[in-house]
Amino acid sequence: MDVAQATNYIALAIPIFFLLIGIELLIGKLKETKLYRFNDAVTNISCGIGQQIIGVFSKTILIIGYLYLYEHHRLFTIEHTWFNAFLLFIGVDFFYYWFHRLAHEVSFMWGSHVVHHQSEEYNLSVALRQGWIQAFFSTSFYLPLAFLGFHPVAFVVINQLQTLYQFWIHTKTIDKLPAPFEYVMNTPSHHRVHHGVNPKYIDRNHGGTLIIFDRIFGTFQAEEEEVVYGITTQPKSWNPLWLNLDYWADMFRNVKRATKWSDKIKILIKEPGWKPAELGGPIEGQPVTPQTFKKYDTTIPNGLNYYILFQYLVIMLSTTLFLFGSSKLDFLPKLAAGALILFSLVNLGGLFEAKRWVWYAEHLRLLLITLLGALLLGSVMSSIPIILLGLAFMGLSIIWLNQYRSIFTKTITSLI
Ligand SMILES: [Zn+2]
Ligand SMILES: [Zn+2]
Repeated sequence: MDVAQATNYIALAIPIFFLLIGIELLIGKLKETKLYRFNDAVTNISCGIGQQIIGVFSKTILIIGYLYLYEHHRLFTIEHTWFNAFLLFIGVDFFYYWFHRLAHEVSFMWGSHVVHHQSEEYNLSVALRQGWIQAFFSTSFYLPLAFLGFHPVAFVVINQLQTLYQFWIHTKTIDKLPAPFEYVMNTPSHHRVHHGVNPKYIDRNHGGTLIIFDRIFGTFQAEEEEVVYGITTQPKSWNPLWLNLDYWADMFRNVKRATKWSDKIKILIKEPGWKPAELGGPIEGQPVTPQTFKKYDTTIPNGLNYYILFQYLVIMLSTTLFLFGSSKLDFLPKLAAGALILFSLVNLGGLFEAKRWVWYAEHLRLLLITLLGALLLGSVMSSIPIILLGLAFMGLSIIWLNQYRSIFTKTITSLI
């Protein structure tokens, strides 16, 4: 049973994601409201690309437990019928609710999910902003479904549909929907609350597709005052790798500093931000309004933003080729290509922040991308035009980047 070969509907939906993001941008323009910031949107999408790249390597490992339970210990063999698919959908949503709720209420689990909440904007690109190793925490929550006898392929497909549903609810452009729909389903209004940093909105509305589990288990909150988006402790970075590690780094620093063993354990398992009195006590959410909340932002010259956009288009094209073609690659070229895409995402984050290290890292990346591109594409088509194209890409990129050399040489900062 090769579940890893089950269709990746999320990769197939990429053009639809970008079409809808385009429509949302257009609505923002027509309504004259700024729904997107370039650095924030690129970071959101970078987190999504990174999650998909890591998924290529980890999905086989992640499903092992489900396969084992299904093959050796299932109670029933549940047939493929529409009704059973509906039951499975409810089951996936139920266990998602509990994973998601605990990911908000238990500190070390929050570290895997926090990435999704770091954006201080609310638009469709936020839906793509996902933690790179969240799946390592969420997968075990679904094991009861294997034990009951839901087929692994059916689980993988329904799980993806549940994720896809959550795309369209990340928007400010859709107001409250008719009451019966709002009562049962997770909607843009309910999910805006979930992304709120306003004290009354924190840790509310954990549902995936349905909102009924929040109503049943007491975590529902309707959208009332205007939502301020983000988290209580701003990570202040556009680097997707650092954004995935920032919370854990802080948490383990506190574990190290705490003197009592009981406090060290509490820092890991109590609510996010909990600290013993000796380290300053728990971080409390402060009242916020959109007028007083200061969003994290950085400014670089427009030409450098266009450089990032150009490189990003190349990365997105490479990612699409990688997601659809990686199964044909041997392990080492696959690893090299995946690592180079992740390296590229880190560099673009560093460019937004004009970090000194990125000046050197970006030249190295341009060289590596040209070499690897020639090696991988040269094996499927005539290599001379590919090499020429690669050299032209590298030359143009270096000339473009060097227009802004002074920005990088002025900043002296640490590696991250
Ligand atoms: Zn959440
Ligand atoms: Zn969300």
